[in-house]
Amino acid sequence: MHTQPTASHFINGAYVEDTSGTPIKVIYPATGAVIATVHAATPDVIEQAITSARAAQVAWAAMTGTERGRILRRAADIMRERNHDLSILETYDTGKPYQETSVADATSGADALEYFGGIAASLTGEHIQLGEDWVYTRREPLGLCVGIGAWNYPTQIACWKGAPALACGNAIIFKPSETTPLCALKVAEILHEAGLPAGLYNVVQGMGEVGASLVSDPRVDKVSLTGSVPTGRKVYAAAASGIKAVTMELGGKSPIIVFEDADIENAVSGAILGNFYSSGQVCSNGTRVFVHADIKEAFLKRLAERLDGAVIGDPMDPETSFGPMVSKRQLDIALGYIEKGKAEGARLVYGGKAIDGDGFYMQPTVFADVTDDMIIAREEIFGPVMSVLDFTDEDDVMARANDTEFGLAAGVFTRDLARAHRVAANFQAGTCYINTYNDAPVEAPFGGMKNSGVGRENSKAAIEHYSQIKSVYVRMGDMEAPF
Ligand code: NAD
Repeated sequence: MHTQPTASHFINGAYVEDTSGTPIKVIYPATGAVIATVHAATPDVIEQAITSARAAQVAWAAMTGTERGRILRRAADIMRERNHDLSILETYDTGKPYQETSVADATSGADALEYFGGIAASLTGEHIQLGEDWVYTRREPLGLCVGIGAWNYPTQIACWKGAPALACGNAIIFKPSETTPLCALKVAEILHEAGLPAGLYNVVQGMGEVGASLVSDPRVDKVSLTGSVPTGRKVYAAAASGIKAVTMELGGKSPIIVFEDADIENAVSGAILGNFYSSGQVCSNGTRVFVHADIKEAFLKRLAERLDGAVIGDPMDPETSFGPMVSKRQLDIALGYIEKGKAEGARLVYGGKAIDGDGFYMQPTVFADVTDDMIIAREEIFGPVMSVLDFTDEDDVMARANDTEFGLAAGVFTRDLARAHRVAANFQAGTCYINTYNDAPVEAPFGGMKNSGVGRENSKAAIEHYSQIKSVYVRMGDMEAPF
C-alpha cells in the first residue's frame, strides 16, 4: 500500500502542502521503518483552514438536517466499502493488528457517521406555551469546532468528533496526533467524495503547538480533545480564556472488580479485553483488576493459560492478536512502569519484557499482589500492564476502586444481580460494565467523570455538546411597560 499521503493537510476540500512546516516522520510500529513524512501546519496553513471553515459553515448550517445527514450516511457507506484498505492504513499508522482494525476502526467511524447522519434530520428546538404568549427554542450550531486526537484510534476519533459536529451544522478542523497523522486524511477524502461541501471538514497536521494555536484562536467556538489529563488541563485552560465550549476525553486508571461468584472464564475475558486489546493502549482499560481472594489463584492460572494463546507478531497477519506498541517512546514508558512495579514489590506473574526485533514489541504483562499505593496502581501506563489486587469485602473494594483521580470506566463481574447494579451505581465512572468490558457502541454516551473528562461523545448526549439553544420570546398582545 502507498502510505505517503498526497499532501500533509486537507483544507477547503483539497490536499494542501507547505513543506516549510516541521517534518513529521510516520513510523510503522511493527518494523520501525519510516512509511511517510508530513509537515506540521505553518501559521499560513492554519489561517487557510480557519478562514475556509468559517466561510463554509454558514451555508452548511442553512441546509436542512436531512440534507446534511444524507451526506454523512453516504460517507458511512463509502467507509464500509473501503474497510479493508482503511484498516490496513490504520494498522500502518498505529501498529494495531489487522484482526482488530478490520472490525474496530473504520467500522466504528462509519457507525458514527451513520448514527449522526440519521439523527441530523430530527434535531429540533421546542415550543413552550406561556398563556397566549410563547417561546420557541432554536437548536443552532456552535460554529467552528476544533478536534484534537490521540494516537490510539485515529480513524475513530476523527469520526467521533466530525460526525456530530457536522450533523449539528458546524465546520470542523481536526488535528490528528503527530504520531498517527495518516487516517484522518482518508476520513476527509471520503466525506468530500460523499458530497460534503469544501471547507467543512479540514485536517491539519502538527504537534501540540498547532493544537494550541487553534484552541487559542478567537474564531474557534468549541474544542474537543482526546488525550491525556496533563494535555487536557492545558487545552481546557486555553479554551476557558475564550469561554469556548469543550469536550475532554482524557485518561483513566479504571477498576474491574471480580467477585467470588463471578464466571471466571468471562471475568478473564473481560480482563484480557480490558488490558491487552490494542496492546493496552485504550483509555478506558480496566488496569486495576480487583479479584476476590477466594478465587485469585484460579483467576491468575486461567489468565496465564489464556495469555499463552496470544499470537504476537506481524500485525498485517490476520492471525496476529497482539501487535507492537505505537512508538519506541510508548514502549519505553510501559517498560519503565514494569521496572517500577518490580521495585515496589509487586509479583510479576506474566510477561514483563520487551521482545527483540526492529518493532516496538513487548509481552503482555501481569502483576499480582499489587497494593493501592503502588505507582503501577495509581498512574495511567497506557500499555499492556495489568495490576491484580486482592479484596474480600464489597464496601472496602468499592472505596478502593473509587480512590483515584480518574473516572473514565469501571467493570464488575458477578452473578449476583442486586450486587451488580449496586456496584455500578456506586462506581465514580462515566461508563460502567456489568459482566462485560470496553464495549463502546455509538448509541451509548461515552466519557469520563472526575479528571477523566468533561462532556460525552456518541449518542444523543453528544448533540448537546455540538449545538446551542436559543430561546425566542413571542408576545401575542400589547407590551406593558412601567412608564
Ligand atoms: P496527548 O495528551 O499527549 O496528546 C493528545 C493530542 O493533544 C495530540 O494530538 C497532541 O498533539 C495534542 N496536544 C498536546 N499538547 C497540546 C496543547 N498544549 N494544546 C493543544 N493540543 C495539544 O495524548 P496521546 O499520548 O496522544 O494519547 C494518549 C492519551 O489519550 C491517554 O492518556 C489516553 O487515556 C487518552 N485517550 C483518551 C480517550 C478517551 O476517549 N477518553 C481515548 C483515547 C485516548
